[in-house]
Parts: sequence; structure tokens; C-alpha cells
Amino acid sequence: MSSTLIELRSGAYYLPSAANVGVIATPKDGAILIDTGSDKSHARRVVEACQVIDLRPRAIITTHHHADHCGGNGYLVRNLNIPVYAPPLESAIVSNTILEPFYLFGGAMPIDALRDKWLMAPASPVAFELEAGTVEINRVELDIIPIPGHAPGMMAVGYEDVCYCVDGLFGPDILEKYGIPFTADVAQQLDSIERLRSADYEMYLPAHGEPTDDIDALAAANCAAIERAIEAVHLACSPAGELSEILARVADLLDLNFENIPKFYLMQTTVAAYLAYLTQEGRVAPWLEDNRLWWHQV
Ligand SMILES: [Zn+2]
Repeated sequence: MSSTLIELRSGAYYLPSAANVGVIATPKDGAILIDTGSDKSHARRVVEACQVIDLRPRAIITTHHHADHCGGNGYLVRNLNIPVYAPPLESAIVSNTILEPFYLFGGAMPIDALRDKWLMAPASPVAFELEAGTVEINRVELDIIPIPGHAPGMMAVGYEDVCYCVDGLFGPDILEKYGIPFTADVAQQLDSIERLRSADYEMYLPAHGEPTDDIDALAAANCAAIERAIEAVHLACSPAGELSEILARVADLLDLNFENIPKFYLMQTTVAAYLAYLTQEGRVAPWLEDNRLWWHQV
């Protein structure tokens, strides 16, 4: 894996990774990190890459609580003694990482299979909660842009004419690979895509994908994937089925392979989010009978 930062614009860099890490240079050789990757080896790689161009990480912005975005926080906080900034709702989970497998397991204490590093990063303290709007961190002015949906309190970061849009938009290869992008709230996710599309940046960097200056194409690809998933979940509700049945039908329709128990639970939550969306839209409804909750088309 590369340990070389790529410069997007003057002072705005990223380290290409499975989950890209943003790096913004600050006055006096400092750097603000946007997310930290999945674990401490990822975090070490970020520090090394910064050192190559004489930067030292001095602050972390954690955009949302997913473990592939905050897994390196603990190592960096412990070794560099730097603060973490995170959106309010996300910070609750970043500092109590059991909450991710806890909610995926329906609010019961999760089985061991859900406590792996992909779903449960080491907890890290959050020093400052981020508010939407313009903020100054280490003498650098940043735009903090709410983009809820994929995660309930997720925020993107704008710096000069670069937007670190993290998991608000996925690269086309990722959309193709996963078939149905993980989400907690489909309506909010669509609104957030439109917010990013209509924002005034020249360069957009998804966390999973390549940087692009063609925001219209990237937004359209993401909306198309979501629309395809909406129709697949709707179709899967005929005939009526319980959640586990709907999930299996969606997997068949979109040619998904859950591979392991964590992926099964991630997709179960995603399909539940689509069912909630379709319920709001009046296209499906829940129906309780014989101690079973059925989902059916309206
Ligand atoms: Zn994520």
C-alpha cells in the first residue's frame, strides 16, 4: 500500500487507501487529518506519509463513526496527544464504539462475530463536537457540511475548492462491487447527495473511490444505485415476507453475497432503512400477524 500523499490542490492532500484519509496542511508544519483509516497500522502509515513532506498531524476530524474511518484514532491520540473533532451524534459512538455492533444487533449486546475491527474500532475520546458551518481549526478555515444518511450525523469537510465528501458519495467501482450502498436513512442520503452536488467545489474526494471534478456524474451514479436498491426492496416485498426473507430476495435480485456475519448484519440494517423509506413513501407497510412482522407492498 502507498505511503505517499497525493496533492489535490495546494495544501490539500490525501493518502489513497481502502478508506482514503484526507490531510490538510496548517501553518507551522501541522496537518489536520480527515478520518484515520481502519487501525493503528493505517494510522502509522498516515504519520509516515505526513513526515515525508514535513507535516505533523495536530488534529483529527472524524466524519462519522464507522470503524474504517476512526480505527486509527486511538493510536494517534495516544501517541501524538492530538484532539479529535467529530459531529455530535457520531461522537457518541466514536467514544463508545460498542454502540455500532450494539445497534446492528438490534439493541442487544452483540455476539462476538460482530465485535471485529471492521465494526468496532478502539474507542477514542472526542475533544470537540463539530457544528455545521465555517469553523477554524489550527488557523485553517473549513466548511463543515452535514451529509446525514449513510451515517446519521455524518459531515463532509470543505477546504478551499476541495470537498472531502467521505461516504456521502461512493466511487463507481465501489457502487458496482457492493450493489447497495450502506445506509441508515435513504431520504437523508438522497438529500445529502443533492447538497454535495450543488455545492461549489472544484474537486471531490470520496473516501472509497478516486477524486473527481465531475460531481454531476458521481452524484448521478450514486442516485442510480440508490434508485435501483429502492426498486429491488420494493419488488422483494411481493409476496409479503419477513425481514430475513426480504433480505434474501434483495440479495438474489442484486446478486449480493454477504460472505460473513458482519456483512449480513450491515445489509440487514440497510434493507431495514429502505423498508422505512418505502413505508414513508406509502409503497410498503408492516403488518403483524401470528407473532410475525410481515412487509408487503401497498
Ligand atoms: Zn461509512
